[in-house]
Amino acid sequence: MKPLGILGGTFDPVHHGHLRLALEAQAALGLSGVRLIPARRQPLREETMASPARRLEMLTLAIEGESALTTDDRELRREGPSYTIDTLTSLREELPRVPLCLLMGGDSWEGLERWHRWRELIDLAHLVVVHRPGYPGVSAARCRQRFDREPAAGPGALAATPAGEVLALALPPLAISATRIRTLLREGGNPRYLLPDPVLQYIRNHRLYT
Ligand code: ATP
Repeated sequence: MKPLGILGGTFDPVHHGHLRLALEAQAALGLSGVRLIPARRQPLREETMASPARRLEMLTLAIEGESALTTDDRELRREGPSYTIDTLTSLREELPRVPLCLLMGGDSWEGLERWHRWRELIDLAHLVVVHRPGYPGVSAARCRQRFDREPAAGPGALAATPAGEVLALALPPLAISATRIRTLLREGGNPRYLLPDPVLQYIRNHRLYT
């Protein structure tokens, strides 16, 4: 059974770092697709600048015509903070046997121990950590210390079980962040080519991030 990729985030706004990560991971891991799941409110971060509805609309614009990528609004429909453990639990109820690959950048992996019930994430999904410029990747020592297991040797292991592996995935790095895009927009700079044109047009039409 092909694994399904999951990429959660604030997507404030979505950019090419997210989109390339999703597509490259799909190819490298043989995923059936990747679901992009915007958080209503990330417990560890400040309030997003754009509303949940706007962030979902930008995501929808960004993936238009790309059949491998879909949006999933379950966190937006849930009241309160968006805990990944709750999202994985609800996905598991729908897809009891499908291998789930929770994709994240190296910055997310770094802060994982602050996530709500982080130890249980691995019972519900594989963790796939993509290198992000400026952050250390997955070390075997950290993997052992956190989850009492070795990192997976390669993508093959992910299709064999529904959950439980930690994989460090080397993809072509893109040093793009939503923070930089918001800064450029606030300061009157030009963020073009860091994010899809239709998303930038949407931002300008609705005067977001100014
Ligand atoms: P911000 O700058 O506001 O913190 P961000 O660019 O990190 O935003 P998020 O929506 O917080 O975007 O990211 C969602 C997920 O995508 C996280 O797991 C993050 O690590 C990952 N990610 C985002 N940009 C990249 C990138 N350029 N390379 C690798 N991973 C990335």
